[in-house]
Amino acid sequence: MICPFCRHDDSRVIDSRPVEDGTQIRRRRECPECGQRFSTQEVALLNIIKRSGATEPFSREKVLVGVRKACQGRPVNEDDLVLLAQRVEETLRATGQAEIEANEVGMAILAPLRELDEVAYLRYASVYRNFASLEDFEGEIALLRALPSNSSENSKTPSSASKTTTSSAKS
Ligand SMILES: [Zn+2]
Repeated sequence: MICPFCRHDDSRVIDSRPVEDGTQIRRRRECPECGQRFSTQEVALLNIIKRSGATEPFSREKVLVGVRKACQGRPVNEDDLVLLAQRVEETLRATGQAEIEANEVGMAILAPLRELDEVAYLRYASVYRNFASLEDFEGEIALLRALPSNSSENSKTPSSASKTTTSSAKS
């Protein structure tokens, strides 16, 4: 890491500690050339590439806003939604990619939302996948009927058998 003071092309790590529940690492560095100290922070990247081409950090809150709208008036509580947003983030992080297309976020929402509430799922899918006609709904409903209600075909999430996926906040 280049020294931000004298631009020397190396620096020494003198301290390293986890912050933000271990999801980030902060390092204290020292420049061997000018002796100045500075800090850096390391965080696992998860950026979303929007349709415009711009990128922004993944936000669970944005996932929540989208699914909350679809779940209006449905017997779904806030805890379910928070858990869903967490599962979406885990699914996306499991791809190992630092940057993910916005439509992949939508895809990652569909499976857990279908498990949560089929009506909310249909609402979300109709917007997200641009349902244009009754046939689109009929096709989707036929698919839903064909699936076992607690689908286990969602192979991307490792522990989809139980809904009690806890946050993996190991250090
Ligand atoms: Zn320096």
